[in-house]
Amino acid sequence: MLPKTERFKQGARETLADPVIQESMEAVYNGFHTNRQSAGQATEGWDAQRDRGRAIKEHTIANLDYYLEMLTDKVDANGGNVFFAEDTAAATEYILDLARARDVKTVIKSKSMVSEEMSLAHEMEAVGIEAVETDLGEYIIQLAGEAPYHIIAPAIHKSQDQVAEMFAETTGTDPGQTPEELTTTARGMLRETFQRADMSVTGVNFAVAESGSIVLVTNEGNGRMCTSIPRVHVAVMGMEKIVPSMQDLGMMLRILIRSATGQRISSYVTMVNGPRRDEEEDGPEEFHLVIVDNGRMRLLADPNLREALYCLRCGACLNACPVYRKVGGHSYGWVYPGPIGAVVSPVLSGLKQAKDLPFASSLCGACREACPVRIDIPNMLLHLRHQVVEGPREVRSVGRVERLVWKAWRFGNMKPGRFRTGGKIANLLGRPFARGGTFRRVPPPLSGWTRSRDLPLPASTPFRDRFKKRRSRGRG
Ligand code: SF4
Repeated sequence: MLPKTERFKQGARETLADPVIQESMEAVYNGFHTNRQSAGQATEGWDAQRDRGRAIKEHTIANLDYYLEMLTDKVDANGGNVFFAEDTAAATEYILDLARARDVKTVIKSKSMVSEEMSLAHEMEAVGIEAVETDLGEYIIQLAGEAPYHIIAPAIHKSQDQVAEMFAETTGTDPGQTPEELTTTARGMLRETFQRADMSVTGVNFAVAESGSIVLVTNEGNGRMCTSIPRVHVAVMGMEKIVPSMQDLGMMLRILIRSATGQRISSYVTMVNGPRRDEEEDGPEEFHLVIVDNGRMRLLADPNLREALYCLRCGACLNACPVYRKVGGHSYGWVYPGPIGAVVSPVLSGLKQAKDLPFASSLCGACREACPVRIDIPNMLLHLRHQVVEGPREVRSVGRVERLVWKAWRFGNMKPGRFRTGGKIANLLGRPFARGGTFRRVPPPLSGWTRSRDLPLPASTPFRDRFKKRRSRGRG
């Protein structure tokens, strides 16, 4: 079977033919996208705030080693432990060892994209530890055995009927339950799990270097339950999630939440400052922060791709993207879908296996426009496309014939004379194969072009010649 990131075209075709998903994806645009636009318009100095947010990320990523050291010292001073993991295997091993050492039977998870990179829930189940997602969307896709479909709305592709049926199959509830009833059912089941969990694993929206605080943004309160009930709390973060100060945090929360859901502030913003102190009633006995690299150093080292580390994972670029809204999240084949996924996945999971992703874009620029920190995604996609075509042999993924075809195309388009002559030759050679002025099907490697559209035959008299003729007749 092909690695999932190599199934982009197949996945996209399947999604386009699925009316339920196509209808569900309307919500991405009509909900999140329009809410973000309204929130931006209603916020005074919105563009200046985005500029400030970008400046904070630029500064932090340029001084990442300094701030990571500061964060480590502060978490240490707060009574927590910090573990740097070079890859997901190291991070997983650390967490599983910890769970075994503390005799953990049940782990509750709050939304974490990095733990998706690690397939942590599967790894835990494999060694006999029960791992339960507590974000409702994540819980639904865990029941379905699927990966998240959207960065902030993991089950956006599921219809109400599908969720009701799934709950009925797994929990024996009535398949005709309303959304409110489904939520109540999930709440009841999760509450019981919260109470018996020994350990929690959460993501990190921001880590504040100057205080060692871990910040979680949620709308369901599950993050707060996860960080206060179990005796061990493990927070897992990509190394880019750091902000220097509390003042910077205020700015970043403002632009993240408005860009993600259009809210002024999410229902819960939880800050964790290490394990429970002696005088405190709630909180874990132990706090561990796992900081994961897993290919991020490669992004940091490449000046053309470094900006990807500015990402706040708000999902705005997905909602704005005309490609994502049609091909859906699973077509991208890995943890991160949409425009930012098309940049991050090839670098973190391997360009050769994800060679179609940089091409999954019309380069319209809607993602850059929507991004709260103005990440230049189209430019990074072009850079990756260049690597796929012209990069080192180990990442190059375009066949010799296709390269030759595009080289000839480029040569033909470099000079007006060549373009004119090339068009005339193509018209002469193509005439016997064209029907009604178009080619219905062309041979590989360009066959993909005519799979869902026609290719026009180059005109016998190009526009340039017709225009000249009209002008000489005095009608121009
Ligand atoms: S690239 Fe920008 S818009 Fe897309 S998820 Fe990241 S921060 Fe949000």
